[in-house]
Formats: sequence, structure tokens, C-alpha cells
Amino acid sequence: MTQTRSRPPKVFYRPSRPGDVPAVAQALTLKGLGTARSALQRMTVLLIGMGAVNAALLESAARLGVGRLICCDPAHFGPASHLTQPVSPQQAALGMAKADVHCRRAHEINPECEILCIQGFVQELPRFLLREVQVAILAGDNISAVVSASQLAMDHGIPLIESVVHGDSWLAYLRRFDLANPEAVCPVCNLSEAEWQARSQRAGCSIDTVLKPGLVPTRTLPIFCRVAADWGVAELIKQATGQDELLLCGEELAICLKNHKIWRTGYERNFNCRLPHRASTHVDLLQEPAQIELRELTAQFGDSANDLQITAELPWIRQAQCESPRCHLMTPVRRFARLLAHVGTCRCGAPLIAGSGGHQSAIPARDVAPCLNSPLSDLGLRGGHTVSITRDDERVHFYLGRPTLAEWAAAQEFADAEAVS
Ligand SMILES: [Zn+2]
Ligand SMILES: [Zn+2]
Repeated sequence: MTQTRSRPPKVFYRPSRPGDVPAVAQALTLKGLGTARSALQRMTVLLIGMGAVNAALLESAARLGVGRLICCDPAHFGPASHLTQPVSPQQAALGMAKADVHCRRAHEINPECEILCIQGFVQELPRFLLREVQVAILAGDNISAVVSASQLAMDHGIPLIESVVHGDSWLAYLRRFDLANPEAVCPVCNLSEAEWQARSQRAGCSIDTVLKPGLVPTRTLPIFCRVAADWGVAELIKQATGQDELLLCGEELAICLKNHKIWRTGYERNFNCRLPHRASTHVDLLQEPAQIELRELTAQFGDSANDLQITAELPWIRQAQCESPRCHLMTPVRRFARLLAHVGTCRCGAPLIAGSGGHQSAIPARDVAPCLNSPLSDLGLRGGHTVSITRDDERVHFYLGRPTLAEWAAAQEFADAEAVS
């Protein structure tokens, strides 16, 4: 996983091509969908994790004509993936990226859908994308992804759907949380201590991800995944058409296909939740990164920049090492950068490599004052990036521009070129 962190996530973008949809398909209204079609066309849905559940959900969402779909998953298929997922044995054997294969198929089903696919972790999603999303769907029970997705959804006030299956007991679950309300229950509220401790483990429908060392494979029959996925799609339709009174809200629906039992269970808000239940403030920065100094952002919190936690979507780099094996000199730098990116030139003329001298998740206190007068571009930030500043319970996200999905996807080629291969 460390090599994924040092490289930008791979990005695959497919634009909406309504002209490629046959006229007979455009004219057809599916029964039970009513007027939902145009509402779904205006919707942006985020799918986190592209195992068997979200692969099925993506396919249904594409058939229904959801306007924009953003998918993320870091994994590749393994040689037995076709037993549990809608993928050909050839694609599985080639070890292709899951998110890309599923998104390609969804776009073939409905070329009118705009689909952005990110081969990376939920923690690597650029924050500006969340501003476009009306609902996020998390599939799988990787606790670390649950925590990150809940935090993102709460920050942006969007509902989060969790689709989970348990193969041994033939159970499919659907949970939905309305995270626009900080007083409402969140998915992290009811995590047990054991689940919290197990945050680094992975599990889910996919044979490939659960076969990682030290983990027990679940090898879930895909039929349960399909049930969980289609329940999730029904919630999408209800949300798109404003049937709020019919939506699950802070609740879990479970069905056992073995004994036909169905449970609907409400969750209680935990006032000692490990996630801070708070809404964030969102600020659009209208100038270019070269024209904005860090001081203009911290000024939102008053005169003192002490005790501010300042983060971006990249690690903070304090030192960089010369790339030349004959030199290897360490040079101090103060900026955000992806690990292993080129961040300047050594005295000897060779490139400097970020992160070889250590990195941090936020700007350390001793670096804040020297950087206050620096333009954000000098701190390694560019259009599409977000700077987040937190003090106590207050959190502000500053957005450097608001690119379209197509613009952002095209700009990622530069990010690739910047990193060392
Ligand atoms: Zn909570
Ligand atoms: Zn050097």
C-alpha cells in the first residue's frame, strides 16, 4: 500500500455521450420509475469500494441513467475474481484494476453517464469532488474506510449508505445515515472497541482483497451482494425523487435469505462518538494559488495562527534529498508534496526528492509562522487542491478553484509526470 501513497491515484474519465444512446432506449420509460429519470440524470453518486456489491450497484445506477458516477477502489482483480464479481475470467487473470473494468462496463451500458473512476483509497479522494456528490455509497466492512467515508460525508452534509453482506449466514444489510444533521447518529457512533481496534483490516465480497496475509477470506456468494446493491439503488431513486419519508434514516435493514427474516433496526446517537459530529465551513478561493498567501486563510481564525492545524491533501515535506547518488545532500524545504515528487533543485543541479527526510500530515507549529507570507503555489498547492484549517471544533475547507470532472481528470497527467517513476 505504501507505493500507492507515493504515487497519485490512477484516474480514468469517461464523458457523457448522449448521442451514443439509441433513440429507442432514450424514449423508453421503465415501469415503476415514474418521473425519476430526469431527477436521476441530475444526480452525482459516489461509490466507495468496487467489490461485488458496488459493481452490481454501479451497473444498476448506469441502467437507470444516474448522471454522474464517481467510483474509487485501489485494488486489482485476482485470478478467481470472476467467481464473485461481474468480470470475465480473462480480465481477472490479467489482474486489471477493478474500478476501471466496472466503470468501462457501466459506460458501455449507458454512454450518457459521466463516469470518473479513481484507482485509489477513499482517503485519497480530492475533497472538491465531495461538493458535487448528493449521496455516497460505501460497500464492504473495512472499518478504516467506514471512518474516512463517514468523516467526508459529515463534512459535506451528504447521506451515506452502507451496503454489507455476511456470506456464512446468508445476510444482506443496508444502512443509511443522514449526515447533514450533526445531531443524528453516524456509522461510527456504534462501532465497538474491537471494531475500532480492527480499523486496519480489510474484508468484503472480494476474494482478492481478503486474501491479504493475516486475513480470513469471506468468499461471499455474489447473490447476497446483488440484494444489498439493489436495495441501495432503491434508496437512490427515493432520494432523487424527494420521497424522504420512505428513506432509511439512521437505520439498518437486514434480510436473511436462508430463513426469510427481515429486520429493520434504528440506531442511537452516541454522544461519546469517536468522530466529532460537526459541520464544516466551505470557502471558495477565487484567485490563483500564486496570488493567495497562507496568511489570508489563517486570518479567518483571528490574528493568531498558533494552535491551528493546517492540512492539505498531500503530506507536508520538511526536507528533500538530492536524487544524485554521488551527492545525496539533504536540503530543507517547506511545502506540501506527494512523496517521491521532484520538489526543487539541489546545489549540485540534480533534482530534490520529497519525503526521503520525513513528512508530516499537517504543517508543524514551527513551520506555520515562516510560511504565513508565502503564496499557496510556493507551498506546493495548485488548482483543484483544498486546504483545511481546524481549531478546536471549528473547521474550514478552502477550495482552490472548482474544476469540472473532465478538467480535473486531464490535469492529473501533470501530477503523474511530476512523480518519479
Ligand atoms: Zn457518530
Ligand atoms: Zn545534490
